[in-house]
Amino acid sequence: MDPRHDYEPIPPPPVTRDELTAGLRQIGLGHGDLVVAHVSLSSLGRVEGGAAAVVDALLAAVGPEGTLLLPRFSTYFDLGGVYDRRRPPPTWTGRVSDCLVGRPDAILSLHPSHAVVAIGPQAHAVTAGHDRVSPLGVDSPFDRMAQRGGRVLLVGVNQRANTTIHTGEAHAQVAYWGKPRPDRPQGLWSLDELGDRRWVRLSELPGDSYAFVNVEPFLAARGLVASGRIGRASIRLMPGKGLIAAVVEFLRQDPGGLLCHRPGCSFCNWARQWLSAPPPEH
Ligand SMILES: [Zn+2]
Repeated sequence: MDPRHDYEPIPPPPVTRDELTAGLRQIGLGHGDLVVAHVSLSSLGRVEGGAAAVVDALLAAVGPEGTLLLPRFSTYFDLGGVYDRRRPPPTWTGRVSDCLVGRPDAILSLHPSHAVVAIGPQAHAVTAGHDRVSPLGVDSPFDRMAQRGGRVLLVGVNQRANTTIHTGEAHAQVAYWGKPRPDRPQGLWSLDELGDRRWVRLSELPGDSYAFVNVEPFLAARGLVASGRIGRASIRLMPGKGLIAAVVEFLRQDPGGLLCHRPGCSFCNWARQWLSAPPPEH
């Protein structure tokens, strides 16, 4: 007991599935929507039913006509050189995406390092052939989501978690995008469902997103971000296509605007060299 009080503090009640759905509705998510969601489960505080309740709430918000997409990224350094689609490596993008993978109708895309999991009528169209296209760039699931009128939802995370900003870097053709990185493998072996082995090129691997928060005021000034709260978490919803267009405009004004200045950030310090490099001779 806290000696300053003569009562036990009462913890706040857990967030329920219905409260989650109501919060998503309030911010503008509706039936038939295509949405990519980035969710921090812990940011919500206690959730009745945990990650499964969050998946249920997201699916309820978009309804059976809607399509839900979640990143299920993994670190390719953990793959031991071979990516086995039948046993995907652990993800670092949260328990909610793992929970969606377990649903019977879910489709896990084939990309070894930047897979996405999707459920709904547009799931196949946005995930197909992911291992043959850019992980996050032009024609990636994030790009397809945006071009089809999809939206980006952030739950308890800020713009650093907003993968579609990388898609904007690709569309802007910012000088560092897609340059081969000395600190990353060029590709790896992948096993499909039948155990057949194929070499997958890892091109256009994204860099650091620490400075992605810089774009938030730019988005807000264009009226692109709807904000709300669920439990302890702040939530944001924005149109994918408008987001990408705004990132392109932001980078035209300041090509280094999404690079951080942390001395220890090897990516941003490397990427900045491309911005000052002379244009190639013709
Ligand atoms: Zn950085």
